[in-house]
Amino acid sequence: TPSSNQIDGKKIAEELRARVGSAVKSLPQHPTLAVVLVGDDPASQVYVRSKIKFTQECGMRSVERRLPENASQDEVVATVRALNEDTEIDGILVQLPLPKGLDSDAVIEEIDPSKDVDGLTETSAGRLLLGKTGLRPCTPTGCVILAKAALGDLTGKNCVVLGRSILVGKPAALLFLEQNCTVTIAHSRTKDLAAICREADILVPAVGRAEMVQSDWIKEGACVIDVGINRVPNPAKPGKTKLVGDVDFPSAEKVAGAITPVPGGVGPMTIACLLRNTVLAACHRRGWETPD
Ligand code: NDP
Repeated sequence: TPSSNQIDGKKIAEELRARVGSAVKSLPQHPTLAVVLVGDDPASQVYVRSKIKFTQECGMRSVERRLPENASQDEVVATVRALNEDTEIDGILVQLPLPKGLDSDAVIEEIDPSKDVDGLTETSAGRLLLGKTGLRPCTPTGCVILAKAALGDLTGKNCVVLGRSILVGKPAALLFLEQNCTVTIAHSRTKDLAAICREADILVPAVGRAEMVQSDWIKEGACVIDVGINRVPNPAKPGKTKLVGDVDFPSAEKVAGAITPVPGGVGPMTIACLLRNTVLAACHRRGWETPD
């Protein structure tokens, strides 16, 4: 049973999916999400399967475009362009990473920004930076929702984002700024990381280093949103592995006021936010009123 300071990402994601589901019911037509999967990376296949499953559970239509591992750049681009032109398609997601040899930036840039449900095109990133409405990246949006679930209004909170990737760190920092937080972005060249983290009311590690953040990096009572997903050997089951975050959860849990577990924290929120983006994209493109 989760302790009282655990933020239950699974439950919050379930509630968000339920809200998306009822929003879908109120629309004149079912939105459609297209997923492009190139090659046979096992983790990508698992992600795509669950994205399709949850899309359908929410009452939306799901379309899958599979290309072989040796697909050419032109073939992938042609697939995206066809989906751009298909008026039945509301959202396009290209599952990353693409096989070696393909230029994923160039593929992403082909996506019609009005269908960019991952929020990764230059247009979406630019609109986020400029504070204009648009489709926001899913994992960082999930982080904000979880922090708000724990703290309510985030105005004036010190937020430290650990990591500055295009996918997570940078957009997360901008989204917390949008919530009126005072945001610090830390990274591999940051001096005295621990001291900076200890200033955080909201700490968002997005680094990809197993259990790097120790309990003495965390201010008493702080809210910790752990984005990291790291596979490590499982000491309890020799020969097996387990997933851990960027935070040493057992010790951090004793200091933090609220903390997300891994798995069951940020992970489930990513897909829920993707589904919400699909509804938002459909409403915007088709001129439907956006449901709450
Ligand atoms: P990247 O590898 O692209 O970025 C990692 C960032 O961490 C970089 O900015 C890097 O700094 C910084 N960093 C690396 N080492 C250190 C260090 N020792 N001290 C301080 N900063 C460091 O990873 P992503 O942003 O794509 O992903 C981060 C983690 O989040 C991964 O574990 C990934 O699996 C997970 N993830 C989880 C998702 C979810 O749905 N829950 C979705 C996406 C990612 P620098 O820029 O200086 O190199």
